[in-house]
Amino acid sequence: AELATMMNVGVNEIISSCMSLGLFVSINQRLDAETLAVVAEEFGYKVEFVSVEIAEAIEEEEDNPEDLKPRPPIVTVMGHVDHGKTSLLDHIRSTNVIAGEAGGITQHIGAYHVSLEDGRMITFLDTPGHEAFTAMRARGAQVTDIAIIIVAADDNVMPQTIEAINHASAAGVPIVFAINKIDKPGANPEKIKEELANMNYLVEEWGGKYQSHDISAKNGIGIEELLEKVLLEAEMLELKANADKKAQGTIIESELDRGRGYVSTLLVQSGTLRVGDIIIAGQYYGHVKAMFNERNQNVKEVGPAQPAIILGLNGAPQAGDKFNVMENEREARSITNKREQLAREQGLRTQKHITLDEIGRRIAIGNFQELNLIVKGDVDGSIEALSDSLIKLSTEEIQINIIHKAVGQISESDISLAAASEAIVVGFQVRPSLNARKIAEREQIDIRLYSIIYDAINEIKAAMEGMLSPEI
Ligand code: GDP
Repeated sequence: AELATMMNVGVNEIISSCMSLGLFVSINQRLDAETLAVVAEEFGYKVEFVSVEIAEAIEEEEDNPEDLKPRPPIVTVMGHVDHGKTSLLDHIRSTNVIAGEAGGITQHIGAYHVSLEDGRMITFLDTPGHEAFTAMRARGAQVTDIAIIIVAADDNVMPQTIEAINHASAAGVPIVFAINKIDKPGANPEKIKEELANMNYLVEEWGGKYQSHDISAKNGIGIEELLEKVLLEAEMLELKANADKKAQGTIIESELDRGRGYVSTLLVQSGTLRVGDIIIAGQYYGHVKAMFNERNQNVKEVGPAQPAIILGLNGAPQAGDKFNVMENEREARSITNKREQLAREQGLRTQKHITLDEIGRRIAIGNFQELNLIVKGDVDGSIEALSDSLIKLSTEEIQINIIHKAVGQISESDISLAAASEAIVVGFQVRPSLNARKIAEREQIDIRLYSIIYDAINEIKAAMEGMLSPEI
């Protein structure tokens, strides 16, 4: 698949070319150097092998335990469309609820922090939606500490609510529920809690472990209390960071501004970022020329769990790219050059994800404990039946987890969840959307389509026993 993408030909053409060489290969199989060269030549390409050993090894500075200081939690809001994500974030941003600082944050920014009267802070990632969350995670960036899942009390727990819950759970991020729109006449928060309970998400007032609060994002009711609960959850996580080293963190968003050049919003995750530092992010680098906080005020330094808008990069890195501070410009240039070269040569960022074929091999060498599956199907009944049977295949060595199941075609969001969670996507009587298929090919996500439950179970079982015959 990777070779097909690089040469811009169909995967089937590569497979049949291999067949003519007497090789029966699957879509995700690695070809050896010799085969690669022969196959590529058939399509008029000459293969040149480059070393993938790039100077990625940006050394991590060790932290002394005494340098680790408490840091604010980083929070994302997720939920079904129209349930109030934007309203909640806007309310918090514009009022800075608790401290009531004059002139709240008026501009849109991908991340901002608010402080409470007692000085405690919360950093919000304002890229609402589990798609953004999981897309970042698929790029290796786990930024969020806590997810607020918002559900409108005049509606129901909806498909995207369930997706959001599953995406947060797959990332191991604790959830706090915000039951919104309680000002509305038809609102029934208890009904939402009951629906959550039916999904095994029991809220605290019902004796469960999930914190939840009834709010009105529109009228500002209950938001202070909601944030208190978020902070309580954060306390249990004992979040710490070392401010006393070179900064590193994640790019939240970037754009090209006519007057100012490339402008990136980033989140410092450890260390302290200072004006003048040389940073690299993705394929770009530069001196930090100026930094601004979310109130558009000039700042000279930014510490852990704090966002900043920076000027000075020579390009726009992608959301989810990591940034690091380098010793000198030469080093920064050399690393970003290599990254750029590699990206160009590969055409696309390709990362090998788990496939069913790979499972048997990994089991044989004994390094496989969990198999994550995403199950999509045409009707609820068959999804339940299939998921139950698949979970029952778990053995002492391998635990099967269904990290998400839902009715509907296989979507882009399913693929990015699979990429972030090393999962295989199982489709029963459904197919991937065109975009989902494209992304799955690029990211090498294994999608298995079935129309008979028995086939699905048998194939997963065979894979677990290391007996799966290569798929052609
Ligand atoms: P999002 O799609 O989740 O970002 O939802 P929005 O924040 O855009 O909200 C969708 C609609 O619900 C908008 O018309 C909001 O004004 C409305 N809305 C959001 N929160 C509340 C609330 O607490 N009460 C009422 N009555 N309306 C709300």
